[in-house]
Amino acid sequence: MSKRDYYEILGVSKTASADEIKKAYRKVAMQYHPDRNPGDKAAEEKFKEAAEAYEVLSDTDKKAQYDRYGHAGVAGNGRGGFGGGGAGMNMDDIFSQFGDIFGEDLFGNFFGGAQRGGRGGQRSRGVRGSNLRVKLKLTYEEIAKGVTKNIKVKKHVICSACSGSGAKDKGSVQTCGTCGGSGQVRRVQNTFLGQMQTVTTCPTCNGEGTTVTAKCTSCKGEGRVYGEETVSIDIPAGVQEGMQMNVNGKGNAGERGGMPGDLIILIEEEPHKELHREGLNVAYELHLSFTDAVFGTQVEVPTIDGRAKIKIPPGTQSGKIFRLKGKGFPAVNSYEKGDQLIQVSVWTPQHLSAEEKAALEKLSHSPNFKPHPDKNDKNFFDKIKEIFS
Ligand SMILES: [Zn+2]
Ligand SMILES: [Zn+2]
Repeated sequence: MSKRDYYEILGVSKTASADEIKKAYRKVAMQYHPDRNPGDKAAEEKFKEAAEAYEVLSDTDKKAQYDRYGHAGVAGNGRGGFGGGGAGMNMDDIFSQFGDIFGEDLFGNFFGGAQRGGRGGQRSRGVRGSNLRVKLKLTYEEIAKGVTKNIKVKKHVICSACSGSGAKDKGSVQTCGTCGGSGQVRRVQNTFLGQMQTVTTCPTCNGEGTTVTAKCTSCKGEGRVYGEETVSIDIPAGVQEGMQMNVNGKGNAGERGGMPGDLIILIEEEPHKELHREGLNVAYELHLSFTDAVFGTQVEVPTIDGRAKIKIPPGTQSGKIFRLKGKGFPAVNSYEKGDQLIQVSVWTPQHLSAEEKAALEKLSHSPNFKPHPDKNDKNFFDKIKEIFS
């Protein structure tokens, strides 16, 4: 069968606008719609032919190809497998176009239904499982580097006895007698356009296309049982308290082979004994003895990535803040990294022996022990700002 020119099929000129092509197709499709021409093979062919023509002419790229090379230019390009004659597109493809074309107007009511009927191939199996929420506590160290966690999740899992079908055995799954397995039933309506069919979900099988005559005894026909699964989750570095991660398909199993729900991971931070998180920064309070603050020293401080050595210069004031650049948390979505801020807190002795007391009393009137802050000693409010910057 030689193929007719697409423009000719739709009855438009080569210079027709997208809107004109759409209108023309709508007209032809209405005329040859199978619901209006039951059992008329010629009409069905015309209907399919028009759908194929529209499929190409409504697509800018395909239309350009067709204009240049004719049918050869679009052979095999179509989703219905073009090139095999006018009947290359199957009905499902054709009806699935209709949502765009007829969806917005009055006819959408009729063709919208037919469209679902056309897609009868995708029967809805079972009932989708519900989502599950799980809290996951992470240490600062785990957040700093990212971590793979294996967590045990108590949930509905697919019944192994029936592989989720809910049926006792293969013989107890039968094609639904009401819909013949399509999952849908057609209803004929008289309208001002003539007889129209609407298609609805089959009430007998709820759209599943099959019915179960004998139920699986392990799951009582539900296709799932309550159990446990270990789920491995890759946590990226830099997550924060309150963030959520979605793990597709790891929630509750669906009923009778339905899609599983999702597993939603809620991130929680385990408080650290010594460090405190402020956004990407990490704060640490360093207690120094009075003499270390006076003479200077070297100390080791904890960080979220092991320990770090820092030098305390002689004459360090209480409240002084040291900054370890890049020793904070990484951002989860960028290369940014926070700092660790170390605030010095000089320890004032609370109990003194008579000897210590005497030694300090001797120094108490020495002029070097009188406070005289200079401009380099930032005031309290500047420091607060710096901590939270
Ligand atoms: Zn079962
Ligand atoms: Zn049915």
